[in-house]
Amino acid sequence: MHSWSRPVVPPLPGRGPVPRVFDDSTGALVEARGVDGRVGIYVCGITPYDATHLGHASTYLAFDGLQRLWIDAGLEVDYVQNITDVDDPLLERASATGVDWRELAASQVELFRTDMAALRVIPPRDYVAVTEVVEPIADAVGRLVDDGLGYTVDTPDALDASGHDIYFDIAAAAERTDWHLGIESRLDPATMAEFFAARGGDPDRAGKRNRLDPLLWRAARAGEPSWPSAIGDGRPGWHIECSVIALDALGPHFCVQGGGSDLVFPHHEFSAAHATALTGERFADVHAHAGMVAYQGEKMSKSLGNLVLVSALRASGVDPAAIRLAVLAHHYRDDWEWTERGLDEAITRLERWRSAVARPSASGAEGDEDALLAELRRVLSSDLDTPAAIAAIDAWVAGSHPTSGLVARVVDALLGVQL
Ligand code: ZN
Repeated sequence: MHSWSRPVVPPLPGRGPVPRVFDDSTGALVEARGVDGRVGIYVCGITPYDATHLGHASTYLAFDGLQRLWIDAGLEVDYVQNITDVDDPLLERASATGVDWRELAASQVELFRTDMAALRVIPPRDYVAVTEVVEPIADAVGRLVDDGLGYTVDTPDALDASGHDIYFDIAAAAERTDWHLGIESRLDPATMAEFFAARGGDPDRAGKRNRLDPLLWRAARAGEPSWPSAIGDGRPGWHIECSVIALDALGPHFCVQGGGSDLVFPHHEFSAAHATALTGERFADVHAHAGMVAYQGEKMSKSLGNLVLVSALRASGVDPAAIRLAVLAHHYRDDWEWTERGLDEAITRLERWRSAVARPSASGAEGDEDALLAELRRVLSSDLDTPAAIAAIDAWVAGSHPTSGLVARVVDALLGVQL
């Protein structure tokens, strides 16, 4: 699937340090260095039915910031993102609105691309829709079944009498692979049970060996899309799609698995479980997650109807650079609330920064600018501290420093904000 246009990232003098990011699987800051000058990152993409709200934008801006630091450190980035373009929430939305699910997905993916380009997000190298890779996913599920890590469950409502849903056996995987429950999420059993039920799991499904066993393959049902395969007609489960897309694009082991913090469990735990079961290797070095964005007191979500859409803000004349600055004013790991006041502050800040860099150049500016660049590299490379970076730029702007033009390039390259 094509992604979107790549923004120009201005080169900067010297090299930044290799960034350190918080790893949820160890609870520590980890240097995200990759191997031999290359870093692989997989960030879970959207389910295209409610794009692009500020919660999505916040997640992708966080990992865009990480990508910019890697580029500044001289590393080559292999960035992969999926699109969950066949899944229950999308199908339910399509059915509720009377729109064909493919049309709904295509329109929302297009909106997402346009928003990402407007926000100057560096696109993924591989942008892969699940519907493009159903066959390799079915093959992977077949291998898990052959290895005794997947099992069928009676499925009376399957379209075909011989059709069965297929589940992943977490107990067998824990016994026979290097993965075990909690290795990535470090959550207690009660929290896992709560998140599993709330985030697409089916703990009460009859016939499962363990309440937390996740779905690998859903047999064809009447009125649902399905694909023919050697394991029966059906469609992929949610976690295995990301395992297979990441393994195919990045190999058995890569640097960062990223996404919103609501993916810590069960999604990232089981994507890693499936991948380790398929390859025998640890999936990703670092599990990094962005906080949730609230609006009017609740987490932004389609079901609550409190979405703030990037496209709506843009249509009302808000500069995408101001949206970006409003998001970057918060640390990526924090949960925070989108407010009109926060947007107004970002608009004012953007104007202040733009008038500061428009001052005529003068000799002697380089020292100040070099110091600012060094400070931004320092704070951003320590778990992407964008609030500290913004404060440092504010302080520079508040002084009466003339500029040679370097600061505008620095703010563009490291924060993606064009002045
Ligand atoms: Zn995913």
